[in-house]
Amino acid sequence: MGDKGNIVIVGSGIAAMSLSATLKLANVNHVLLEKSSHCGGILGEIHNELDDFVVGIFENGKEIEKAVADFNKKYNLPIQFNSEVTDIDTISKTISYLNSGELHTVKYNYAVIASGSRFKILEEFKNAKLKNEIYYRISPFLTDFRQTAVAVIGSGDNATIAALRLIEYAKKVYLINRSNKWTSRKDLVKEVKRHPEIEVIMNSSLKEIVGDETINKIVVFNNQEGRSSEIKIDKLVLKLGYLPNSNFMKNGIELDSKGYVVVNEKYQTSNEYVYAIGDIVSGVYKRIAIAQGQGTSLGTYFLKELLPSIS
Ligand SMILES: Cc1cc2nc3c(=O)[nH]c(=O)nc-3n(C[C@H](O)[C@H](O)[C@H](O)COP(=O)(O)OP(=O)(O)OC[C@H]3O[C@@H](n4cnc5c(N)ncnc54)[C@H](O)[C@@H]3O)c2cc1C
Repeated sequence: MGDKGNIVIVGSGIAAMSLSATLKLANVNHVLLEKSSHCGGILGEIHNELDDFVVGIFENGKEIEKAVADFNKKYNLPIQFNSEVTDIDTISKTISYLNSGELHTVKYNYAVIASGSRFKILEEFKNAKLKNEIYYRISPFLTDFRQTAVAVIGSGDNATIAALRLIEYAKKVYLINRSNKWTSRKDLVKEVKRHPEIEVIMNSSLKEIVGDETINKIVVFNNQEGRSSEIKIDKLVLKLGYLPNSNFMKNGIELDSKGYVVVNEKYQTSNEYVYAIGDIVSGVYKRIAIAQGQGTSLGTYFLKELLPSIS
């Protein structure tokens, strides 16, 4: 590799790898710091068929993850695994990361944040005795729900899709939403209304999970009426959306109110030397093709416009 560039990329999901593949074509010096021991990021969490990704037929995200790992085996992208970024200092233009318990620092000319997002979990129930009965994803476990009463907490598309899938197995599904707005797609809302066995409960938040070995019931608090009520269930599904992996960005880079990175049309953040792509970007639709497109687009911009202007 040449010494042109010196770009440090956080993450090795589809966005980061697409950027890296483009930079590698022109021998641009760069490294990807990845906290886990594999590339492909969140792909492995996709258990549905990829029916909106037209480059091939993939039964689930694991299959794309394997394709991505094969790509890396062949083209040998400069990914440094087990390297968790803990800080970006935009003044000294350095990134700190932990590898095998040791703190390292690397200097950058440009940094690219491609750290994606993660499922939001309810911290207070993380260590609950009943956690085996609490599901964050359902696709691999659908038969567990046969003839059960299930509560799905959440109001977005994922929660509504989960309720619709579950009702094929469960005898009753409660879709519980803490706000008075059901933010799901209209066609999904319409579909739910065709199923009397799905009961939608608005303005209500989960307060308590009651049970010993298995869940007996949950307590929900109605924020509008100011009172609690109990619902008898067997299983609980939490579809609370996503949280951005941006906790290592303590200052110097503008984040939106949820912690996603704000960028301009060139994927440049509020700091001239820091860019962001993929699911970590504020307001972006979370899709594989979009993450990939942003990576390739930023890589091409680096090659054609940014790096030639400084060399
Ligand atoms: C359940 C589910 C179903 C989906 N279904 C579809 C679908 O059907 N079609 C579709 O197009 N898209 C789907 N998506 C969305 C798609 O998977 C994502 O939009 C895309 O993979 C995001 O890629 P990314 O590179 O931006 O982020 P990610 O894949 O999240 O990669 C981020 C990487 O950064 C690493 N990282 C995070 N923090 C740090 C740190 N501090 N230091 C170092 N590394 C770090 C992570 O370990 C990870 O490897 C789905 C997603 C989920 C979760």
